[in-house]
Amino acid sequence: MSNPARVYLVGTGPGDPDLLTIKALRLIQDTDVIIYDRLVSDAILDLIPAGTTRIYVGKETGNHTVPQQEINQLLVKLADAHHRIVRLKGGDPFVFGRGSEEAMWLVKHNIPFEIVPGITAASACTTYAGIPLTHRGLAQGVQIITGHSQQDGPLDLDWKTLADASQTLVVYMGLANIKLICEKLVAAGLAADTPSAAIQNGTMAQQQCLLTTLGSLADETHRAKLCPPVIFVIGKVVSLADSLDWFGVNDGVNHQFLNSETTSYG
Ligand code: SAH
Repeated sequence: MSNPARVYLVGTGPGDPDLLTIKALRLIQDTDVIIYDRLVSDAILDLIPAGTTRIYVGKETGNHTVPQQEINQLLVKLADAHHRIVRLKGGDPFVFGRGSEEAMWLVKHNIPFEIVPGITAASACTTYAGIPLTHRGLAQGVQIITGHSQQDGPLDLDWKTLADASQTLVVYMGLANIKLICEKLVAAGLAADTPSAAIQNGTMAQQQCLLTTLGSLADETHRAKLCPPVIFVIGKVVSLADSLDWFGVNDGVNHQFLNSETTSYG
């Protein structure tokens, strides 16, 4: 068989198009068909050339518009008809992105594929909020967890391990369970005055960062009516945000280079 189809599982980062890798941008601009979900930002979708076929398979918590099995089947079907298929995913495909499930499916169906890493939310959103994931004397490691339980069952996490004051804890998909998460961490020994943050729409122009303590994180999140995507950061490093915030600073600089009139990636 000549020229078999190839599927590219491409991470786009959390939203700011300037955070795309060059490989991701090249693929977006030179493919027949693009499949994407809800976490791929509008600014990134704007980079897709007019003639490219777009297929939306987004999902929201409790409202799975296209079940994963159907997405897998769609990839195989598209590989029959197209030469190059680009599957865009928010952040990194291998961090809570089901990229590995889709890749396993492609292996099973003998479809060649490549995986393009993207900057994951834990890295990019914290950096844009002026929060280093590690800092000498404040955090010697990072734990990354999902706060979303399987089939909406009880959250089954190792609270003792997570309540580690020497590490930064980053919670993806934690909005619905944030009250329980904070209570469990305090009950497991993490101080209620541990600096904590909620970052909504990280890296995008609409980014909002709420700085508080573990004891107040759930109430403050509720009061601020935050809605997805939100990432939570718990740990002493959050105390540096006051000094290191650069993105939220209104200094007259257009931080969104790709959207500015002077820069072209064409
Ligand atoms: N593969 C993605 C994660 C997908 S899970 C990655 O590597 O980043 C979806 C969760 O990621 C969201 O519920 C939220 O917790 C987090 N997230 C993704 N993009 C975000 C953003 N721009 N701002 C805040 N949180 C984000």
